[in-house]
Amino acid sequence: MKQTNISVFVPHNGCPHRCTFCDQRSISGAQKPPSPEETAAMLESQIPVLRKHETRAEIAFFGGSFTGIERGYMISLLETAHRFVQDYPDVYNGIRCSTRPDFIDDGILDILSEYGMTAVELGAQSMNAEVLRLNERGHTPEDVEKAAGMIKKRGFSLGLQMMTGLYGDKPEYCIDTAKRFIELKADTVRIYPTVILEGTKLGELYKGGIYRTFTQEETVDLCARLLRMFGEAEIPVIRLGLHASRDVEEKMLGGVYHPALRELCESRMFFEDMSAEMKRTGGTDFIVYTDPANISRITGQKKENRTRLAGLGYRFEIKTEKGTRLRIENAL
Ligand code: SF4
Repeated sequence: MKQTNISVFVPHNGCPHRCTFCDQRSISGAQKPPSPEETAAMLESQIPVLRKHETRAEIAFFGGSFTGIERGYMISLLETAHRFVQDYPDVYNGIRCSTRPDFIDDGILDILSEYGMTAVELGAQSMNAEVLRLNERGHTPEDVEKAAGMIKKRGFSLGLQMMTGLYGDKPEYCIDTAKRFIELKADTVRIYPTVILEGTKLGELYKGGIYRTFTQEETVDLCARLLRMFGEAEIPVIRLGLHASRDVEEKMLGGVYHPALRELCESRMFFEDMSAEMKRTGGTDFIVYTDPANISRITGQKKENRTRLAGLGYRFEIKTEKGTRLRIENAL
């Protein structure tokens, strides 16, 4: 049985914060909060689709700060979701939400528990105090640690979200953030390279020449490293990069936004593994065995890996081997 999320976008209208990367106008203006009735109709409409595709779904309240919205409205959405999980257990098997670390306390967790919430994701963004301060997040790394501990203790699945390339950020700070996420025993992680949008403080800093974010090349190198770290810690990275969106494309001033960002990063990991293994094996011509699903990542976009390895003096042909990630032999 496949698993997916059915997302319900709940904008945090009237959010008192001013995070540098956030486009408040589109959050508070264009996006209308869904009513419980609209949410129910949407969940109802997805039932035959999910059944047809033999897929189960978690109902996911996304948009930033689910536990910061008006309490009665939040409960009405939770009641709706809970009803669908109870009435259609073959289709809906959980509820998740994303929120700010400083919007978690025992009272909130009691409510989430009562309505069958299964996973809580925290927008941590960085575990570097200065990066959080410069980007006006209004919370500290300690707030993330405290909230993460409370979520784990209550038995919810803990999701942690981080951004790369914020104002004042450095790759080593992102590595430290990933280390802290691993220590906090995150169950899932999302990684969002910064996209600089018109109408944000980052946009102003960028246009004023005060801020630059990481290049795509730096981001691919960094995120490949982050994927490796989380992979070794057996923590699934359930998202890398923003979802494709016309809104983002129209308002983007700079930053890293690529529809196949994850594939680029996984391809970089293959390049690193192949070059190390070829160097260790010795020689110049190799046979690379891999599962058919990996072939495009092994060769790289526009054959980048092939070209870069040729630059190091290595040539290879690919042979498929089901279930194998990477096995390299000398082609004698
Ligand atoms: S990202 Fe920051 S400013 Fe934007 S809604 Fe969330 S907390 Fe508020």
